[in-house]
Amino acid sequence: MPNKFFIVVMQVALMVTLASAEEPVAAKPVVNLDPQRAFGYLEDICKLGPRPSDSKGMTKQQELLDTHFTKLGAQVSWQEFDTPHPKNGGPVRMKNLIVSWHPQAKKRVLLCCHYDTRPFPDRDKLNPGGIFLGANDGASGVALYMEMAHSIPKLETTFGVDVVFFDGEEFIFQRDGGKYFLGSEYFSQQYRDRPPSHRYVCGVLVDMIGDKKLAIRREPNSLKYAPTVNRSLFETARKLGVTEFVPLPMKQEINDDHISLNEIARIPTVDLIDFDYPAWHTTKDTPSQCSGESLVKVGRVLLEWLQHVPEDIGR
Ligand SMILES: [Zn+2]
Repeated sequence: MPNKFFIVVMQVALMVTLASAEEPVAAKPVVNLDPQRAFGYLEDICKLGPRPSDSKGMTKQQELLDTHFTKLGAQVSWQEFDTPHPKNGGPVRMKNLIVSWHPQAKKRVLLCCHYDTRPFPDRDKLNPGGIFLGANDGASGVALYMEMAHSIPKLETTFGVDVVFFDGEEFIFQRDGGKYFLGSEYFSQQYRDRPPSHRYVCGVLVDMIGDKKLAIRREPNSLKYAPTVNRSLFETARKLGVTEFVPLPMKQEINDDHISLNEIARIPTVDLIDFDYPAWHTTKDTPSQCSGESLVKVGRVLLEWLQHVPEDIGR
């Protein structure tokens, strides 16, 4: 005959069993994107001031990113080279930043953007020698990847992920001409000439994706070089109901960091870019033109897409 204490213990045990059966502990969400936090990252980067290659602002940004990604469990490495300064020929130190998750994985997906800013806002009619902050043209891609770094380690994917920040995308001191895309060209040549033990199955470049009025159309060079990757990205956006991905072709093809990746490294790479941005290369490219919601929308598409990248996507 059980005593009173034993009955109470049994009742408590039964209640605990029922409670745990009815209220399973909620699984931690894989995707954790916060528009306010993402916008905060964009502001933090812009507060460093202009960030052209080999500048004080760039060095501060490099320190900030090293700390951020290391804290979130990624492996951080640098790819460095010198290039002649377009004005005086002196050596300029360029540094691509490579942030890796699951570095042991031999098949990898490349996510990238440029993180240098144009030295001057030379399209600014009133002040072409003024301060260029590059909130959208520079900081937006960086802020997006800083935000995505909270989710990437939890993704269910068989691929490793590398986020690469290219230096020298526009170390340009004249309105027309000059050599663009120095960092992505160097990265692509190294990948071709000194092949690493891993392979990139495909790549996605983002550029100017922070616009408050975001509309990303299909970019013609991306359609030419990486049609399957392009299709799968826009299909993911459609499934998620992210209408900022507009499944129509852009009017003009874009020369950007993805050209070297496609032509030299032969990594099928898409450029996600909203080129309809009145503040482009002016002093008005500031955080006030950008939105955390826009960043997070691109982030949702990329994170979902990363979990469904087909094994044969690049073929
Ligand atoms: Zn630019």
